[in-house]
Amino acid sequence: MKIQVITLFPEMFDGVMNSSMMWKAQSQQVLDFSTLNLREFGIGPRHQVDDTPYGGGDGMLLKPEPLFAAVRRAKEIDPTAKVVLLTPRGERWKQSVAQSWSEFNHGLIFICGRYEGYDERIVELVDHQVRIGDYVLTGGELAAMVVIDSVVRLLPGVLGGEASAAIESFSDGQTLEFPQYTKPANYDGRVVPDVLISGHHGEIAKWRAENSFPVKD
Ligand code: SAM
Repeated sequence: MKIQVITLFPEMFDGVMNSSMMWKAQSQQVLDFSTLNLREFGIGPRHQVDDTPYGGGDGMLLKPEPLFAAVRRAKEIDPTAKVVLLTPRGERWKQSVAQSWSEFNHGLIFICGRYEGYDERIVELVDHQVRIGDYVLTGGELAAMVVIDSVVRLLPGVLGGEASAAIESFSDGQTLEFPQYTKPANYDGRVVPDVLISGHHGEIAKWRAENSFPVKD
């Protein structure tokens, strides 16, 4: 999957995208990840990317011209890619959507908002609007990383065991994973439930089903 991110802060992605599963996905060429620095599409000698809102109000908005130019460049690189805008106005992100996006056969271009947001005219460029939760972030970068991580780890070959995503929390939309334990069986008097060290697969499956947590709102 090809993923491009339009951002004023490309360095924010370095740690996340160069670690763990995101690094593995790229080294296995399952993921082709890159950023476009919005500043490079800014206007004039100071590469201006923001301006004051018409009608008044606090803060600055991302200007339309740099965003249109950046999306145009990203589409030249990947003409069939779909454009995703991170915005509090978007559809709330969830596991079932991550699963369906991991099956896309096209790339994705993420637009990260900043300041008080963006000029409304960019919405015509956008195929999907996503919010990661009911709270306001300083910019779209963290939200983009959340969405990218949750999709990329589901791409074939990224997780160690192909089955492990299928039995994870939220995979059926209503159940969380059961409690898990590792060695030692007795840590300072805190003991692992007997059934889990019994070796009885049927009993273990029953215990896990009975002890799975419900999703809280
Ligand atoms: N003034 C905007 C409002 O009240 O809705 C908030 C702007 S926020 C400070 C700047 C940018 O962060 C947004 O344009 C968006 O790209 C991103 N952002 C903030 N909260 C988000 C969320 N919950 N999900 C996705 N993106 C978010």
